[in-house]
Amino acid sequence: MNHALNISAANPNAPRLDGSQPHLPTSLAGMTRAQLRDAAVEIGVDEKKAKMRAEQLWRWIYHQGATSFDEMTNISKDLRAKMADRFTLTRPKIVERLVSVDGTRKYLIELSPGVECETVFIPDVAKSGALCVSSQVGCTLNCTFCHTGTQALVRNLTAAEIAAQVMIARDDLQEWPTSNENRKITNIVFMGMGEPLYNLDHVSDAIDTISDGDGMAIGRRRTTVSTSGVVPKIKELGERTGTMLAISLHATNDDLRDELVPLNKKYPLAELMDAIRQYPGLGNSKRVTFEYVMLKGVNDSLAEARALVRLLKGVPAKINLIPFNPWPDSPYECSDWDQIEAFADVVNRAGYASPIRTPRGRDIFAACGQLRSESKKVRASELRKQRLAGEG
Ligand code: SAH
Ligand code: SF4
Repeated sequence: MNHALNISAANPNAPRLDGSQPHLPTSLAGMTRAQLRDAAVEIGVDEKKAKMRAEQLWRWIYHQGATSFDEMTNISKDLRAKMADRFTLTRPKIVERLVSVDGTRKYLIELSPGVECETVFIPDVAKSGALCVSSQVGCTLNCTFCHTGTQALVRNLTAAEIAAQVMIARDDLQEWPTSNENRKITNIVFMGMGEPLYNLDHVSDAIDTISDGDGMAIGRRRTTVSTSGVVPKIKELGERTGTMLAISLHATNDDLRDELVPLNKKYPLAELMDAIRQYPGLGNSKRVTFEYVMLKGVNDSLAEARALVRLLKGVPAKINLIPFNPWPDSPYECSDWDQIEAFADVVNRAGYASPIRTPRGRDIFAACGQLRSESKKVRASELRKQRLAGEG
């Protein structure tokens, strides 16, 4: 456990929950329409005109990707100066950026001092690509195969911090303005750090910002929210966001799932499957993705493949078999490739197409949540070195 992080979360002088620093100008990057309206009022814009100003800001920030108020040529110089006095358009800082030989890009982003999250861009074949965003720093759930699960929850991300992850990746991939036809980020997946359904208000606001047609315009149907199975929030997710649903299943019986995904003890499989069936809009064009991490000798038998097919009967589903990404001291191994293929065969024969997700970016730190702790380790060892040098 990292005590420094826990202390900073409880510290009254820590950055505010909206991610802004006390006494520092607030960044507008990532803000909702309502927040932009409030920002306009704060610098003296008439209430009646605030909505129009917020629309102008919205276009500059989310369509053009503006990083300076000077660019905003349809706003008077005087007003621009007032804005620049009180606000910035700064994005949270990238503390580490890793590019894999396969084109995967992984960013470690500092949201506030000592609070860091990960964002990963995964290019697909052709022109599309998915951005994997975080919804929390750390996670309260302790799935035994997940590295994030070994890290204590530090805090929920704000809507602005979630939307800013997309802006940062767009900056890095140089894909502003949004109308740029060569855009590579075509999909958003909430499969980074944290459990999105434990931060649904902020996740939902962020999706409003990211999907808006006058802004970043990454549609709701191209956005997938992955949950470990927070049953009471599943239907609400669909009603509020209209996004695609992914379920981290990983086991087909309660005994094993209780072990791998301890949240299953609270919401067992039967309840989970019921909640999934009620997901709004479910059908052949809106299927639920079931994620299944392949753990050698744990959940990868062919009997389990058949049990998986039986469990999903009648649910419009896609299956994603994920080769386990080992992390230092992880208690599992990835299934053998032959076994993954044999498992996939059973699933294929039941009518699910190419379910194996190829591992990406293995050369730039593997598992979810790993970059953050690897970089902490590096820094801790640097500090140790410095201390020793100081003592010597
Ligand atoms: N908390 C949410 C979303 C984040 S995890 C959830 O659990 O669904 C995103 C996906 O990564 C989940 O399917 C999770 O099971 C998977 N995952 C976590 N650790 C992994 C690892 N070491 N190897 C492969 N997949 C992993
Ligand atoms: Fe949290 Fe998801 Fe990791 Fe489980 S798999 S510990 S829910 S981030």
